[in-house]
This record gives sequence, structure tokens and C-alpha cells, in this order.
Amino acid sequence: MNADLHCHSTVSDGCLEPAEVVRRAHGNGAELLSLTDHDDLGGIEEAAREAASLGVRFVPGVEISVSYQDATVHIVGLGVDPKNPALLAGLAQVRAGRGERARKMSDALARIGLGGMLSGARRFARNPALIGRAHFARHLVASGVMPDVRTVFNHYLVRGKPGFVPHHWANLEDAVAWIRGAGGVAVVAHPARYCQRLSRAAMERLFDDFIAAGGEAVEVVAGSHTPEEAQRFATLARRRGLLASMGSDFHGEDESTVDVGRCNPLFPDLAPVWHRLV
Ligand code: AMP
Ligand code: MN
Ligand code: MN
Ligand code: MN
Repeated sequence: MNADLHCHSTVSDGCLEPAEVVRRAHGNGAELLSLTDHDDLGGIEEAAREAASLGVRFVPGVEISVSYQDATVHIVGLGVDPKNPALLAGLAQVRAGRGERARKMSDALARIGLGGMLSGARRFARNPALIGRAHFARHLVASGVMPDVRTVFNHYLVRGKPGFVPHHWANLEDAVAWIRGAGGVAVVAHPARYCQRLSRAAMERLFDDFIAAGGEAVEVVAGSHTPEEAQRFATLARRRGLLASMGSDFHGEDESTVDVGRCNPLFPDLAPVWHRLV
């Protein structure tokens, strides 16, 4: 099955419109697709319509920003009802913090001599309610400060760098409850990314708490995972009895290592998350 259950559009920090993401996925051979914008369901209707016209199976999705201990963890919700009031209210609450965070990021960058970053970043954020670090990064690249988005992150936007502002996102239990309440399956996104912030023991506790809250799946094949990391989380999925998901985390041609609809296949012995979808 060519499935891609994690990607982004201009509704969050992707570079393509929702329908363009779907067309690109279809062109790359995707049979099953979920659009999973950060903290927002605004692209689902357009993406679903385009997918229907192309004959691509489509699952509504979202990627919720969560604070767990002092790490940021992303929880993908697949198969959610995009009109569920509690989910919509929860996401609105998560989005609400982004404006203030962006102002603080801009102030922090101004202190090291990079002025006007908020208005610059806003020009790259097509959804004004969903401004994030990627929009700042694109503005810094466009202004010639840094050669590419990855370099901007490494120099300015990751923890310990001058433009990083700590932020409190949703609680893990709330995010999982919103997803389940909306009929969806909760997935721990790109788990290898948390290994820097969370010890082995803390990673185990993250999965304990996730499963206790009703979480059911883990992204094994992820755009940012090495083959070794995919192996490691395949083992975790087997050991924990979790469903396995796969996704490119595509944001745009110039910024993503894996194109939408071009994920490595899932290990054949794992229980794929799509058995629970549609
Ligand atoms: P935010 O939700 O504003 O904290 O932004 C998170 C997003 O920033 C991620 O979903 C990626 O799109 C992007 N991102 C995070 N870390 C990096 C990195 N090291 N290099 C490039 N993009 C990154
Ligand atoms: Mn992103
Ligand atoms: Mn993510
Ligand atoms: Mn993502």
C-alpha cells in the first residue's frame, strides 16, 4: 500500500495549497493520503474534494503540538471528524498561543540585531492564525541572512539558540482525548526526534502515558527517520502492541527529504494503522 499519512499544506507550514499537495501525492502514486496540518483542520475540505476527484483514498488528519515534560511532542490524529466541536475548540486553544510566541521570537531575534522578523514571517504565513518557526526561517532565507531553512533552524530557532522561545502547547492527555473524541486514531509522530530531549526511560514513560490516554499508533516510517530509527520503532510497535503508521512529513520540494507519496514501505509484519481507518 502506498500510504502517506503525514504531510503539510499552506494551512500550516507547508509550501503548497491543500489541493496541490493532493495532486502531487497522486502524481507520486499515493493510494491513501492524510493531510495533517499543525493544529488546524482548515485544509481538509479542499484536500478531500481533490482526493475524491482523483480517486485517492483520503483520511482527515491533524498534527497536534504537545508539551511533554520539557520536550515538544507531536501527536497526529488520523480519521478525525473535522467538524467535531471539542477537537475544533482544543485546536483553537493551541493556535491561540502562537501569536504571542511569534512576537516573543521576533523580540528575541531583534535583540541580536535581526529586526522586523514578525512582519517578515507573517508574509510567509498564509494562515495568520498559524504562524510558526518555518515562516520565520523562510523569511530569514529570503532576506539572505542564511542559505537555507535547515541552517536557519540550526543557528537561530532550535532550543539553546537566540530565536528559540519556550512554549506550553497542549497536554498529551488532552490531545489524545480530542482525537479519540472525534473518532480518530492517535499516533506518536516521528518519535526518534524526541530522543535528544527525552532519556530512554522518559521515552518509555511517554509511550506508557500515551497508551494509558488511549493512544493506539506510532509512526515507524517517517520522513526524518533513518532506516535504523525505523527499525527501532518497529520493534517498539511490536513490543507495545501499537499500530504502525507511515508518513513523509512533506512540507515542500526544497525543504523535505521525502516527497509526498514516496515513503519507504512499512515492515510487512506490523499491523498498519489503516486497518483502523475507513
Ligand atoms: P513550530 O510548530 O512553530 O515549533 O514549528 C515546527 C516546525 O518547524 C516543524 O513541523 C518543521 O516544519 C519545522 N522544523 C522543526 N525543526 C526543524 C529543523 N531542524 N529543520 C527544518 N525545519 C524544522
Ligand atoms: Mn511543520
Ligand atoms: Mn512534527
Ligand atoms: Mn509534520
